[in-house]
This record gives sequence, structure tokens and C-alpha cells, in this order.
Amino acid sequence: MSSISDAINEIRSKLPSSVCLVAVSKTHPIQFIEEAYACGQRHFGENKVQEMVEKAEQLPADIKWHMIGHLQTNKVKYIAPFVHMIHSIDSEKLLATVDKEAKKCNRVIPCLLQVHVAKEETKFGFLPEELEEFLASDCLKNLKNVKICGLMGMASFTDDTKQIADEFEQIKNLFENAKNKYFTSDADFREISMGMSNDYPIAIEHGTTIIRVGTGIFGKRYYQV
Ligand SMILES: *Cc1c(COP(=O)(O)O)cnc(C)c1O
Repeated sequence: MSSISDAINEIRSKLPSSVCLVAVSKTHPIQFIEEAYACGQRHFGENKVQEMVEKAEQLPADIKWHMIGHLQTNKVKYIAPFVHMIHSIDSEKLLATVDKEAKKCNRVIPCLLQVHVAKEETKFGFLPEELEEFLASDCLKNLKNVKICGLMGMASFTDDTKQIADEFEQIKNLFENAKNKYFTSDADFREISMGMSNDYPIAIEHGTTIIRVGTGIFGKRYYQV
């Protein structure tokens, strides 16, 4: 089966070199990941701790694992030794836990703050005013084992491309404001993780640096009941 590598190559051909493609492999088997790996894909995204750990154990060590799903504090310890980046930091408590577990592993874990701009109720993340409050507080100062590298966000699930574009622009503006106000001298604050299978071309137009594509690479997901 070459459809996975075809899809990856097709996406790559449309990506500016500054944009990182994270292949979202959640629910898909090891073989799919191996196929993507064989055509050079190294960044993979998962949204469940146990699934990420099990896959990481069976796959090459140079894979860069991105945690993109809601993360419970009591599970951070399982991914802290190896996770490449956590996109889904949505509370001070979670960030403090990541810091603590990273310290035990002698690591500094790159993290993104998840922002909530979509219209859906169910999406996790800091509201814009909460993000501002969080950054303005001094809670980041004492955390030495996490590195805030930027923001992650999702647009509403809609066919309205204008709305999607507006929401990506909002995320981009939140990023620029945060950078100018709180991270001026910090070269590591440079990532905007936004754009999925259906909307990544729009995200590229609005300055994304990381896209997270699942269905567009691996096909439909079948969830077990
Ligand atoms: C599942 C998931 C994706 C990938 O979604 P697709 O529509 O399959 O590309 C991206 N980001 C997050 C946070 C996800 O949970």
C-alpha cells in the first residue's frame, strides 16, 4: 500500500519549508506509522497517553512524538521521558506537573499553550483573556523544566472558510501579542500549531508553523466502542 506515502508527499509538496508536518496517527496501527516512517516522516501526533507509550515502545527511537490531546496530570509521568512536544497545555496545574516530571527525567520539555478561539463549547484551552492573565502572572518564572515554544489552537468544525480564516487569524494575533509582550528575547517562542486535514491550507495562509494532519494521511479513523 503506497497511499500513505503518496498522501505525505502530496502534502509536503504544498508546504513551505518552514512548516512542520505532524502526522496524527491516533487510532491507527503500527504498520501505518512504519509506512509513513519509511518515506521519511518523523513527527507523529497522538492524543492518548497509553497509546503513545505503547507505540513508542515498538517503533524507532528517532520518532518525535507530539502529544496533541487533552492531558491528565496523573498521566504526564508516562510520556515525560520521551515526548518531543506537548501541544495541549491548558492549565497552570498541568504545566507545573509537566515541569515536575520533566525534572525527574532531567529534561526540558517543549510545550505549547492551547488557546480556545473556536465556537464549540467542548474545546479545551485558555480563552484569550485567560491566556493574557496566565502570561502576566509570574507562574512561568519558576518552571525550569518546561519551555514555552508557542501556541496551539483549533478552528471551529465548519464549512465556513471565512470563519476558519478569522479564527486562525485570531490565534496568530494572540501569538504575536504574546511574543511582543512576554517573549521578546526568547527565540524559542516561535511555533503556531494550527491546521488539520480540512483546514491546513488556510492555516498556512495565516502563519502556522506546525500542521497536524491525520485523516488526510492515514484515512478515516474507526473508533472502538
Ligand atoms: C485528531 C486530531 C487532529 C487530526 O485531525 P484530522 O482531521 O484527522 O486531520 C489534529 N489535531 C488534534 C488536536 C486532533 O485531536
